[in-house]
Amino acid sequence: MRRVTVYDTRTRESRLFVPLTPPKVGLFVCGLTPYDEAHIGHGRTAVIFDVVARALRRWGYRVLYIQNVTNIDDRLIARGAEQGVDPLKLADRHFQAWRDDMTALGVRSVNYYPYATDYMPEILEQIATLLAKGFAYTTQGSVYYDVAKFPSYGALSGQRIEMARTGTRIESEPGKRASEDFALWKAARPGEPSWESPWGPGRPGWHIEDTAITVRLLGARYDLHGGGIDLKFPHHEAEIAQAEAATGAAPLVNFWMHAGMLNLRGEKMSKSLGNIISLHATLERVGPEVLRFYYLNAHYRQPLDFVEGKSLEEAREAYARLEQAARRLSEARGAATGEDGEGAELPERLAREAGEAVERLDASLSEDFNTREAIATLFGWARTLGERMPELGDLGPGALAELAAPFDWAREVLGLFGGGGTGAGDGPLGPAIEVALAARARARGRGDFAEADRIRAELLDAGIVVEDEGGRSTWRKAPPRIA
Ligand SMILES: [Zn+2]
Repeated sequence: MRRVTVYDTRTRESRLFVPLTPPKVGLFVCGLTPYDEAHIGHGRTAVIFDVVARALRRWGYRVLYIQNVTNIDDRLIARGAEQGVDPLKLADRHFQAWRDDMTALGVRSVNYYPYATDYMPEILEQIATLLAKGFAYTTQGSVYYDVAKFPSYGALSGQRIEMARTGTRIESEPGKRASEDFALWKAARPGEPSWESPWGPGRPGWHIEDTAITVRLLGARYDLHGGGIDLKFPHHEAEIAQAEAATGAAPLVNFWMHAGMLNLRGEKMSKSLGNIISLHATLERVGPEVLRFYYLNAHYRQPLDFVEGKSLEEAREAYARLEQAARRLSEARGAATGEDGEGAELPERLAREAGEAVERLDASLSEDFNTREAIATLFGWARTLGERMPELGDLGPGALAELAAPFDWAREVLGLFGGGGTGAGDGPLGPAIEVALAARARARGRGDFAEADRIRAELLDAGIVVEDEGGRSTWRKAPPRIA
C-alpha cells in the first residue's frame, strides 16, 4: 500500500494516513437531504470523495464507502406539506434523481446509501445510551444533547461555546436548557410523520442518524469522514459529541476531510440564498467529464468560485485539449492490431518519461489528494505527446500502451476519458450487500415489508438478486440485463 498523507481538519495538519485495520478503510461522507433538486455544489463534494475512494482502492486499500441519505428532516416535512406529498416519498423521489445524476457523473465508488429511517432502532438505542449516561435530557417529548456535559465540544471547528451560541439558529424549542443544545429526538407535531419511542412519538434530530449509522456499520471509531466545510459546525461537532459520549471511544474519526464550498457571486450556493445552478441541467449541457474536470482542476480544500458563462466554458476548452491527446493515442492503439513486440519499440527516454508521469500522478494524489497538480501533469504529458506524436505512427501496441499509461491512470482515478463507467459500482460488493441485507432483515423483523421490498428492489437495481429461504437471505449477482 502506498504511503498517503491526509490533511486532518481536527488536528489541523497533514499526517500519515494509517487505517485502524489495514488494508480496510471506513469512509463516511455526509449525504444529501433530498428535499429539492441537487445543485453543482453537491456534485463537487460527490466527485471529490469519489476520487478519494478511487485513489485509495488503486493503492490497495479496501474502502467501504458509506454515504447517508437524510430522508426525514424539517425541510422535507415543510416541502412535503407545501406540495401535498408524503415527505418520505418526496425524499425517495429526489434521491432516485440524485442516483441517476451520480451514475451520469461517474460517481460509482459509494458502496451503500443508507436511509436514516432504516436505522431507527440504532438511533433510539444511541439516544437511550446518551440519556442513561447523563449526556442528554428529555423535555416535553423531545430529547436534547446537553452540550455543557461534553467539554471538548467545539474542538473540531475551533468554536467556543459562547461563539456557538451566536451561531445557533434561534428556534422555538421550549424546555431547552441552553441555546447550543441540539435535538436528538423531536416530539411529533400534528400531521408529521413519526416513529414510536420511549419518549413519545417523534423523529430523529439532524445529527443522530450519522453516528447511529456509523457506529453500526463502521464501528465506534473509523478512518475517514468527509463532507462540505459548511458541515463542520455544528453538524460534525455534534457527531463527535454524540458518538464519543455514547461509546466512550475517541477519537470518533481519525481524519476529517472537509471540501471547500462552490461559491456563486461570492456566496455559498444554497437554496435559501436562491443562487442555485442545477446539477442535472449542467450535466445535460456540458457532459460529465467537463464537469468532473472543472471540479478536479482545483484543490479540494479551496473554495471554488463559479462564474456563469465562463467557468465551464474554460473547463470545456481545456479539457478538449487533454481529451484530444488521449483520443489520438487510443485511436492509434485501436489501429495497432499487431501482437506485442511487433512495430517499433518505444524510445527509451519516452518510456521512462511515461513511467515518471504515472509516478508523479500517484504522488500528487497521495499528498492530500492534489488533483489540480495531477491535472497539470496530464497537460505536461499531452504536450510531450503533441511534440512527438508524428513519430508514433509505427509503434506497436505494447509501446502505445506505455504512452497511454498516464491517461489510463486518469481514467481509473479521476474518472476522465471515459472512466466514469456505467455507474454499476466498482467497490467490493460483499460488505455493502451484507449491510443492506442486515437493514432489510431488521425491516422484516419489525414487520415493515414495504421497506424490505424497497431494499430488495434497490439491490436488484444494482444487479443483485436476493432470495429468501428458510428465514435466511442469500444474494447473487443477476445475469447482465439485455436492453
Ligand atoms: Zn452528516
